[in-house]
Amino acid sequence: MSSILLSAMVAVSENQVIGVDNGLPWRLSNDLQWFKKVTMGKPIIMGRKTFQSLPGMLPGRPHIVITRDLDFSVKGADIVHSLEDALSVGRDAAHRTGAREMVIIGGAEIYRQALEILDMIYLTRVHATVTGDSFFPALDPRDWTELSREFHEKSEKNMFDHSFIRLGRKRGGKI
Ligand code: NDP
Repeated sequence: MSSILLSAMVAVSENQVIGVDNGLPWRLSNDLQWFKKVTMGKPIIMGRKTFQSLPGMLPGRPHIVITRDLDFSVKGADIVHSLEDALSVGRDAAHRTGAREMVIIGGAEIYRQALEILDMIYLTRVHATVTGDSFFPALDPRDWTELSREFHEKSEKNMFDHSFIRLGRKRGGKI
């Protein structure tokens, strides 16, 4: 039953910043579209703070929210109290809906705990150095291979140049 891929999706500045004041440090309309395209139909797993930073429930994706608060509840979302439970609920949801992948969508605390077990990372490199208070861990290049990269220039709706990069975990030289 472990044939469901585990991915993470994240946008990271050149200095590894992913967030400030429980929000994003940039406006990148392209990245929001890319996020929607990648995650649509797949279970999304997130920390309680990231959930609360969203405008609301995102349609078309089972939500799994991790918290230590036993009283936390949200209509329409699965609430769990460990990463392990999140993965198990996510796997069930994927099997139920026919998804082949579940996606960890943040934030910093959850990425840190999941890094070692990720199969893929959809990494948007934001080509800027920004101030923030949440960071993505540095990746060891020996563990990851670049599968694709697509560069986009800044524009009216995109504050900074950015690149969509897909990384796959190296497994004995292959992914
Ligand atoms: P998280 O979203 O990672 O949520 C942290 C919370 O998750 C904890 O406070 C706790 O909830 C719960 N939690 C974490 N680990 C566990 C565990 N093992 N068991 C049970 N519950 C657990 O918060 P961060 O502050 O690290 O990240 C949020 C920031 O990241 C924001 O600025 C957000 O905008 C940014 N972000 C950026 C993204 C990007 O791509 N640039 C993507 C996603 C977020 P509780 O306190 O309720 O117990």
